Amino acid sequence: MPDRDHCLALDAADPLRAFRDEFVLPEGVVYLVGNSLGALPRRTAERVRRTVEDEWGKKLVGGWNASGWYAQPLTVGDRIAPLIGVGPGQVVAGNTTSIAIFQALAAALKLRPDRRVIVSDADNFPTDHYIVQGLAGLLGEYEVRDLAERRFDDAAVVLLSEVDYRTGARQDVAAVTAEAHAAGALIIWDLCHSAGVMEVDVSAADFAVGCTYKYLNAGPGAPAYLYVNPRHHETAENVLSGWFGHAEPFAFETDFRPAEGIRRFAVSTPHVVSFAALDAALDIWERVPMAQVRAKSKALTSLFVELVGDALELVSPADPEARGSQVSYRHPDGYPVMRALIDHGVHGDFRAPDILRFGFAPLYTSYTDVHDAAATVLEVLGKELWRDEKYARRLAVT
Ligand SMILES: *Cc1c(COP(=O)(O)O)cnc(C)c1O
Repeated sequence: MPDRDHCLALDAADPLRAFRDEFVLPEGVVYLVGNSLGALPRRTAERVRRTVEDEWGKKLVGGWNASGWYAQPLTVGDRIAPLIGVGPGQVVAGNTTSIAIFQALAAALKLRPDRRVIVSDADNFPTDHYIVQGLAGLLGEYEVRDLAERRFDDAAVVLLSEVDYRTGARQDVAAVTAEAHAAGALIIWDLCHSAGVMEVDVSAADFAVGCTYKYLNAGPGAPAYLYVNPRHHETAENVLSGWFGHAEPFAFETDFRPAEGIRRFAVSTPHVVSFAALDAALDIWERVPMAQVRAKSKALTSLFVELVGDALELVSPADPEARGSQVSYRHPDGYPVMRALIDHGVHGDFRAPDILRFGFAPLYTSYTDVHDAAATVLEVLGKELWRDEKYARRLAVT
């Protein structure tokens, strides 16, 4: 069993160790929730200050041209593209993941007008289900089929996550994309739990969406992104046809005329201050070797699984290759157990009904953190510290 000294040696030899200093991490806390809200990069506060004071404060409305605000959805989209294995001019940033799912789904259904089936995974993130239900309800006559049936032959579109938000189980993007295409279906990948912790490649897919506030560390409420394969740029429709997707927004025409290329998927005025925080986070990603991130991610999750042992029931795949960068366990009293862990300095989160999640962000999580977190898990369970009634009261965000 690796002891603390062994973990200190692993940290000393970690090629990514210098990145930890680029983040603000509170003392005395092991933060294993980077899969929900990534840590704050040190450079972000200054970048946001500059946008607010120097750009907004001094240039006022001139900032739209002079500070590049108007172009942000595309310039920042181009900076996200390498993280998901696609090229420039293929990603638009802005809005939220839920909105991007709506856009991709609606576009896909319009591209397959002769088909009336949407394939979704029962294990998809709830917002993915809700958007499917809302759109299917609006359009009528659509069947929503579960992935478990594994039948794509009459499907218009397949909507899946590369990494399951609850269990951390990973799908084979290349294989499932090929399977969908062979059946004549389009495919949309939700990358919320894979971008930033592994080498993602959705270049063969039709659409992909993701958020930037999780592993990408762009901050609460940060803009999402939407990838559209260039083969659909001239034919796919953006049904959220807001003025930023118009060919000439400042011609102020009455009728919508889509822009060329990916810009037709922009919707409206970008969230400029949030974009500043996203852009600052991307300065870090530009320097990150993703193969090393994935190698460390697998090592961190494996170490945690080994140290926690059978003190908890593992829900994530045991094979590190088959999971993302999180480890999930099941416990009937998962909520008070997680509250007790947080009270003892180990921050994970709880997902109803009984899942404890621990996310490992390789840029700022050390092997020693993993050691200490596992020791706390064993102590909180071993001494049944979670039974204290103060841990039973539910907070609004779990
Ligand atoms: C976090 C997450 C979302 C979040 O959607 P928002 O619109 O940003 O709230 C969507 N899908 C998955 C898989 C997620 O993990």
